[in-house]
Amino acid sequence: MSLKNKIVMLACICALMSALLVGGISYYRIEAIVLDASVETLAGETRLLAQRFKFSYDQLKSDVQVLSQTPPIQGIARSTRNDGIDPQDGSSTRIWRDRLATIFSSMLATRQDYFQIRYIGVGDGGRELVRTNRTASGIEIVADGELQQKGNEPYFQGGLETLQNSVRFSEVSYNKERGTLDSTLVPTARVVMPVFDEEGTIFGMIVINAHYSEMLRRAFEEISPKENTFVLNNSGDYMEYTSNGTIGRFQFHDDYSAPPPLFVDKVLHTDLDEETFSSGSDVSYFVRLNIDPDNPDAFLGVVVRVPYQELMRSTFQARRDSLVGGGLLVLGCFAGSLVMARRFTAPLNKLTAEIKHSQGHKKLENLPLKRGDEIGDLARAFDQKTRELAANEAKLTAIVDNTVDGLFTTDANGTIETFNRACEGIFGYRAEDVIGRKVTLLMPALYLGGPEGGVRPAQTKAERDVEGCRKDASVFPLDLSMSKINIGDRIIHSGIVRDISERKRMEIMKDEFISTVNHELRTPLTSIQGSLGLLLALSGDKGDDKTRKLLKLSYDSCQRLSRLVNDILDMEKIAAGKLDYQLEVVEVCQLVADIVERQQSFSEKYGVDCVLRFDVAEAYVNLDQDRFDQALVNLLSNAAKFSEPGERVVVRVAMNPNSDVAVSVCDCGSGIPEAFRTKIFGKFAQADGSATRMKGGSGLGLNITKKIIEAFDGTVTFQSEEGVGSTFTFTLPACPPNKMRA
Ligand code: ADP
Repeated sequence: MSLKNKIVMLACICALMSALLVGGISYYRIEAIVLDASVETLAGETRLLAQRFKFSYDQLKSDVQVLSQTPPIQGIARSTRNDGIDPQDGSSTRIWRDRLATIFSSMLATRQDYFQIRYIGVGDGGRELVRTNRTASGIEIVADGELQQKGNEPYFQGGLETLQNSVRFSEVSYNKERGTLDSTLVPTARVVMPVFDEEGTIFGMIVINAHYSEMLRRAFEEISPKENTFVLNNSGDYMEYTSNGTIGRFQFHDDYSAPPPLFVDKVLHTDLDEETFSSGSDVSYFVRLNIDPDNPDAFLGVVVRVPYQELMRSTFQARRDSLVGGGLLVLGCFAGSLVMARRFTAPLNKLTAEIKHSQGHKKLENLPLKRGDEIGDLARAFDQKTRELAANEAKLTAIVDNTVDGLFTTDANGTIETFNRACEGIFGYRAEDVIGRKVTLLMPALYLGGPEGGVRPAQTKAERDVEGCRKDASVFPLDLSMSKINIGDRIIHSGIVRDISERKRMEIMKDEFISTVNHELRTPLTSIQGSLGLLLALSGDKGDDKTRKLLKLSYDSCQRLSRLVNDILDMEKIAAGKLDYQLEVVEVCQLVADIVERQQSFSEKYGVDCVLRFDVAEAYVNLDQDRFDQALVNLLSNAAKFSEPGERVVVRVAMNPNSDVAVSVCDCGSGIPEAFRTKIFGKFAQADGSATRMKGGSGLGLNITKKIIEAFDGTVTFQSEEGVGSTFTFTLPACPPNKMRA
């Protein structure tokens, strides 16, 4: 993903997270606050509605109290107790009853919900004294004969238990006439107030029957609540007012037409005066009002029920608004961050384009080096590195161009990629002529094997010697060294070439010289040496001393010269790998004994005694007898040369613990100077000092000896102490007898 997209994505994620976080927290806080506030408002509304219902009860209560204070109430009591005549004003009971009936009638006329007002006496089984009814045809005063005994009615019993000046509301029940239910099934609320005579004895009670459902309906109509409202009492009777203005049927607790709302049951079982009930879809607020101080259980409750959605409308609106706001914020952030990300990344893109289109390590012209921000830092760092790289490359190019050897590189398929100045000199091509062409143009015999096979000379032998082809088509010998280099996942081949025309010419000259030495020098030298030897032998004791001395000197010099020539020829043969070895398994003890025997006369010349010390009876080694002879003779002659006359040279054959055969020559001579020890096996190596020069020799002996012993898989080592002597040892691998090795 590009940096630009990352910036945009980051900004959008940040905006989204903040919107969700802030919006979420605010929403839940607002929801809680709004819920509290809404419930509080609901509670206020419910309390107001409850007061209106209480008003109906209060009116009922005050009406019964007013009636109890009217004169006929006590007048009837007094006249009844005084044989039908009121002792105060002489009115008869009849007159008082008529007056009271008139008061009751006028009360019924003004109170639409009342349908019966009675004055019931406690005597005569609770017989009604005055009774006024509202009927379909109007208000009727019930005739004496129609008056009933109500002594068994619960409200009558309740009235008897009620204290003076107190009022009792009986439970709502269907109205009964003469002990049976009234066919109209009017839910009736009764208010009862006992009447005490002047002596304080209960005389009777005033009972107002109110049409309970009508009373509630009228209250609803007057206040017409906005919300779904219920009014209910402690018996579970309730009435519903729906928010669209219809008033439901009065639901009597014994006769529900449908299951009541859940809160009815909750209200009947709670002790709290106010409470909130929540169901999943709505919230209800309940307010309880005590209507009868003497009966704490009797209450009137009002419940206002509001759908949760409606209650929280403003919250949901806020949530919608914040969602829209959050969406807009994210969109804004997306657009803003897109613009900003473009602006941020534009200089980077420019920088990248500049770097991409730059050629090699040339200085980049348009880098924003002067910027003070991170892009400026990057440009400066890049510029610095480019300069360093360019300087390094210039240095490297100078080194490569100024190397004497030709240097070129190819890709895995042999296509030339670089070609240094020395190569130009060697092949006569300019670099630009060959770069991009196959390397076989320069070296036709090269094998191009692709990435696996690499680029290498086709022939397997003498891998370094190949033929080069110059621009002028001339062919010349080349020394080539190829190597494969892995750079990352890329393979390149590098080649170092050297024109060896001159070296080849020298080699030919040397070969010719050696052959000349061999034929033109050694052959006459051998015959001169033979002739001198013969002359020396012939002169015997006869010739004069001077002649003999001269002959002897010439013979010795000739021998030395012959040895030198032989050594040089051997050395050349060894260097050219032309020295042939006839390897065979030979018993070394006998061989060594024979060589020492033959060398005895030479040792004697130096006054040295050569003795054998064999630790083993026999030992077998795979070797060339003549070459071994040459090597051991060299050790023996050195030992004799560097010993003092009368000293002893010990030749030893032993078996090492690791089954190697050790042949050693130990002398008690001058020893090898410390400084010379590291050079002793070099060509023409001789320790400094007149003594050495006096002893003669070429300094090639040990060099040839070492090469010979190494050809038998052996080693030559020495131990020496100046003035004490030296021991040279051949260590050779032992062989089972008569087994030839390859
Ligand atoms: P050359 O004997 O022909 O000079 P060598 O290669 O055999 O050549 O010996 C090289 C030199 O090593 C000698 O010139 C001498 O200085 C030293 N050297 C060899 N063997 C001994 C020895 N046994 N004791 C002391 N010096 C020795």
